Amino acid sequence: MRILVTGGAGFIGSHLIDRLMEAGHEVLCLDNFYTGRKANVLKWVGHPSFELIRHDIIEPIRLEVDQIYHLACPASPVHYQSNPVKTLKTNVLGTMNMLGLAKRLKARFLLASTSEVYGDPDVHPQSEEYWGNVNCTGIRSCYDEGKRTAETLAFDYHRQNGVDIRVVRIFNTYGERMLENDGRVVSNFIVQSLRGIPLTVYGDGSQTRSFCYVSDLVEGIIRLMNGDYIGPVNLGNPSEYTILQLAKTIQHMVNPGAEIIFKPLPQDDPRRRQPDITRARQYLNWAPKVELDEGLTKAIAYFRDELKQKQKTS
Ligand code: NAD
Ligand code: UDP
Repeated sequence: MRILVTGGAGFIGSHLIDRLMEAGHEVLCLDNFYTGRKANVLKWVGHPSFELIRHDIIEPIRLEVDQIYHLACPASPVHYQSNPVKTLKTNVLGTMNMLGLAKRLKARFLLASTSEVYGDPDVHPQSEEYWGNVNCTGIRSCYDEGKRTAETLAFDYHRQNGVDIRVVRIFNTYGERMLENDGRVVSNFIVQSLRGIPLTVYGDGSQTRSFCYVSDLVEGIIRLMNGDYIGPVNLGNPSEYTILQLAKTIQHMVNPGAEIIFKPLPQDDPRRRQPDITRARQYLNWAPKVELDEGLTKAIAYFRDELKQKQKTS
């Protein structure tokens, strides 16, 4: 099959591309390199079944493909908040452009949505039936409301134009190829403890998240794309940790001498988040396999290597 991956040079996109290339597909990776890196897909550059396209999805593009995995959008609060209008354009205009492409081609379209559509949830754990508790005027709204609109667009293109959609709500995912300065909690804590600088816990660290290792997530996304269930479906690891627990775990694994300090909690930071994965189990026969310790060990080894390489070249 010919498969388009938007945001393919990013963290999750590049892992997905590895799986698709290894399965023998022809892959078009489209990215504007805002938070993605050519290095993430470098091993495929020059391969006859791989094409790298520098393009911004807020502009339309004409391509010929059978499936579209639509992942393009910065995912870290630091990055999506640095240009919030652009984040909205990417989610609204960009998703419309990609759905328009899917409509013309009769290609199957998968939207990478997010647990952020649940906002600061009143229901715990979050199941897909829950409609969410989202602030529409806050600093996270460009992303949360942008993704909610992207979901609406996907379902309206499906109802109105018969576009064959799949919608996945991704919960916090971590692993190799996250950016070292990404700003997300797992990469921050690992990089801070490797550098021997204090781990920055925002608030009192009692807020919770549930962390899914990237290989588990990619397996779920591929199952969703190739099955009959359109979603929305949660994909994430239901093991829930407080942020302080995560800090202590990483501190213990990397550098027990590293200090933990507390910084102000960002505005609208969700208090807790845990996926109900009943639908993923039922429709995709999917559940995560990688425990936090195992995934963190791999991510720590990756960042240790990255920092060493950086030291050598500086
Ligand atoms: P990422 O920032 O590493 O990847 C996003 C990619 O999209 C980057 O390569 C970036 O350059 C590209 N991009 C951004 N705007 C673009 C534009 N206008 N045109 C073309 N390319 C553009 O993030 P990620 O963690 O790999 O996330 C991938 C997708 O999964 C995103 O849609 C994100 O919202 C969703 N998601 C991720 C998580 C997570 O924990 N990682 C959680 C929920 C949802
Ligand atoms: N966080 C933290 N220290 C950091 C980065 C993040 O305590 O250095 C907290 C953040 O306030 C949030 C949680 O960790 O409560 C997860 O943040 P992240 O940016 O990774 O993802 P999201 O908030 O989108 O789930």
